[in-house]
Amino acid sequence: MGKRFIIIGGDAAGMSAATQIRRLKPDAEILAFEKGSTLSYAQCGLPYYIAGVVPEAKDLVARTPEQFREKYGIQVFIRHEVIKIDADERRVTVRALDEGSEEKFSYDTLLIATGGHAIFPNWEGRELNGVFPLKDIEDSYRIKKWLQAEMVEKVVIIGGGYIGLEMAEAFHLLKKEVTVLDLAPQLAGTFDPEMALLAKEELERNGIKVALEEEVTSFRGERGRVIGVETKRGFYPADLVLVAIGILPNSELAKEAGIELGIKGAIRVNERMETSMPGIYAAGDCATQYHRIKEQEDYIPLGTTANKQGRVAGTNMGGGEARFAGVVGSAIMKVLDMAMGRTGLSEKEAKGLGIPYEIVSIRSRDHAHYYPHAERLHLKLLYHRENRKLLGAQVVGRHGVDKRIDVLATALYHGMTIDQLQELDLSYAPPFNSVWDPVQQASTVARKI
Ligand code: FAD
Repeated sequence: MGKRFIIIGGDAAGMSAATQIRRLKPDAEILAFEKGSTLSYAQCGLPYYIAGVVPEAKDLVARTPEQFREKYGIQVFIRHEVIKIDADERRVTVRALDEGSEEKFSYDTLLIATGGHAIFPNWEGRELNGVFPLKDIEDSYRIKKWLQAEMVEKVVIIGGGYIGLEMAEAFHLLKKEVTVLDLAPQLAGTFDPEMALLAKEELERNGIKVALEEEVTSFRGERGRVIGVETKRGFYPADLVLVAIGILPNSELAKEAGIELGIKGAIRVNERMETSMPGIYAAGDCATQYHRIKEQEDYIPLGTTANKQGRVAGTNMGGGEARFAGVVGSAIMKVLDMAMGRTGLSEKEAKGLGIPYEIVSIRSRDHAHYYPHAERLHLKLLYHRENRKLLGAQVVGRHGVDKRIDVLATALYHGMTIDQLQELDLSYAPPFNSVWDPVQQASTVARKI
């Protein structure tokens, strides 16, 4: 028998690592413990499942426990929670949630891939029926059940980040009366205010109400059921409330085991995904990432990163050699008929880091203006005032946002200057682009500055 590998957490990071270990170590014993009842599914698809765009939850599942067992020889244990890591003894204590029993398992190498949890403040009334976070598939079942069983007309979403905005669209598609509340003076906090304003306008154009600078104080209920949200300024009636104000890492197990934590309490990892404790790795939403533009540790919990970090961890655990190159802060979201993409630094981030920058903002079209259905594209670039290296980009529009933001993310990754963007050999035909892509149009404007 080969070495024993234990994985805590059976989703993106954990199962990417497990399958990678199997590729490298055909004879290894691999055990994965997942406290929920589903593993290896696309959390990113949950808003679309709730909206009914994705008809069934099983459509989100990449692989079942049986497939992991039969195809990969990975022993998966669902409804099994790891409650303790004993790093000195190289053992974990696992609680079988249905039986209530506990058992200790020894390991040679351990991966912590416990993900994150939704921030859910201790507001009065948070235990009322009809108040939900959305972090995992079980949350989506609860929300769907509530929608089916109750007469839900009014929905209040607390938080206008990407989950809040995707869920605003989901509830809108379900014909609910939706209000989005945010403490900040803008929605989509990772975007600059003038770009975020486009999201607000898109919501309002579709009849979704937005209330900014609203500080929630409590939930009001009747007979155990939520009837609205109290803020410092008013009251918002609701039959369902979604709390979507951010994610924090599940790092308590690691902390208790004496493993070093980093920014926002995430498990500090190096580029091989090793923690401060020999033989223990971490990956995904529970771990830190290196931000290539900020040149420092960051915490941006996203599925793309979880998959990559899981693969890197699995490769190194399995005796290979891999390094996680870091993130540049790329993200994209759909807000009704609009897409919003960002990469690199926002103005607020550049200011916070004391980086001298210039901006160029243009309004262009996603393809040749004479070809039917050309749509407005808003593009904003930040670049370093002295060395003219690209620092960040934000793109908002109805079509073609994804390709521009990915070109810009690639340029950022490779440290390109704003001027070099003009030299890129980008594809063109009238239905897809103009002869000068909007990215290059912005570069031209910057050259003139
Ligand atoms: P998770 O997927 O959270 O998995 C961790 C697992 O560990 C969980 O299943 C949990 O039950 C289990 N676990 C925790 N503690 C224990 C324990 N002690 N014992 C056993 N098991 C344990 N990302 C994008 O890039 N793009 C998107 O569009 C996007 N949309 C999203 C939409 C929503 C609604 C949500 C919630 C997330 C979205 N994300 C998106 C983020 C993405 O889903 C996460 O970054 C990704 O799932 C993280 O993977 P992970 O494996 O690190 O953590």
